[in-house]
Amino acid sequence: MTTPINFYDFNREEMTNLLTEWGSPRHTGAQVYQWLYKKKAKGFGDMTDLPKALREDLSSKAALSGLRLHTKQVSQDGTIKYLWQLPTDAMGPGATVESVLIPMARDEEGQPGRFTACLSTQAGCRMKCTFCATGVPKFGRNLSTAEIIGQILGMEQDSSTSFNNVVVMGMGEPMDNYEHTQKAMRILNDPEGLGLGRRRITVSTSGLIDHMTRFIKDDWPVSLAVSLHSADPEIRSKLMPINRSNPLDKLKKVMIDFTRKRRLPVTLEYILLKDVNDRPEDAQKLYSYCKDLLCKVNLIRYNPVPTLPFNAPSEERVDAFREDLKKRGMRVFLRERKGVDIAAACGQLGFENQVDRVTS
Ligand code: SAH
Ligand code: SF4
Repeated sequence: MTTPINFYDFNREEMTNLLTEWGSPRHTGAQVYQWLYKKKAKGFGDMTDLPKALREDLSSKAALSGLRLHTKQVSQDGTIKYLWQLPTDAMGPGATVESVLIPMARDEEGQPGRFTACLSTQAGCRMKCTFCATGVPKFGRNLSTAEIIGQILGMEQDSSTSFNNVVVMGMGEPMDNYEHTQKAMRILNDPEGLGLGRRRITVSTSGLIDHMTRFIKDDWPVSLAVSLHSADPEIRSKLMPINRSNPLDKLKKVMIDFTRKRRLPVTLEYILLKDVNDRPEDAQKLYSYCKDLLCKVNLIRYNPVPTLPFNAPSEERVDAFREDLKKRGMRVFLRERKGVDIAAACGQLGFENQVDRVTS
């Protein structure tokens, strides 16, 4: 059995081309696209301004397939974690993947926020950072464009909210699923799609240099966050094995290139790990690394992951590190902790499922 074409896998241009090939006038593509993303149609039958014969024809040739909700958990702070059951299809065996809805009183820069969606791009991750839950289980598979977009549509539908911020900071390394993530980001940004501005979409990468070079050339319509976690090559290699083939000096060059071309600062994510990268000399190294880079630093308190050998520093230590950077004139923010009680915070995604699978 072949899997029917899923229209959520197409950007506007592709949709227009496909429908023209199938004999419709060019404007039908834009019309269908609007039904998907502006009017949130559930099926071709809803598309009442299309001729009935066309609606029937589309229903026989294509599908509008969303994600199937497996479970949902609500945190005391209002954060909601969604676990989706992926189908077994051309993309590979059925895996589960998580996304998070984060209600924000203010965003990290103190601007009023509403709802942030945190999306996954892979079931698992091949980068195997030593502090991260997602890298622990065996890698599952890349998500399709429809599965990335489906997380937003599914969460919006379930919660009756719409998102004004998207962060690609869930499970997986977005650059390692380059094509599908890129297309999903274009649908998010397209004014006729979900219509989120470049500054409202942030893609976080562990820092794969060749992919980032391509990302700059392709001009993804997003802001960039890079997981740095240490400006010391030895420490970073211990935390992130990819540092060996993607060293800090080259990483900096590509980040400078991004800031020059896009005229946007890059966000550096820095998880504070007790006695590993939270000492005054670590702050000094971070400062030296950043001083000629247009950037802001996002400090993240480590969220504990059972079985992994790391701890969070004390609040005093976190404050001291932040103050140290501030005194040096750096733009530094401390990420609010959300959804820890349901393991929905940064780096906790994917762990519980693994435990489920191991024990069931
Ligand atoms: N793979 C990408 C995006 C997903 S990870 C990346 O690594 O950037 C999103 C963020 O969560 C990254 O900054 C990552 O380093 C951080 N993170 C991972 N594990 C964490 C943990 N246990 N506690 C806090 N943050 C964590
Ligand atoms: Fe993958 Fe990011 Fe986790 Fe590293 S921190 S294992 S790159 S998801």
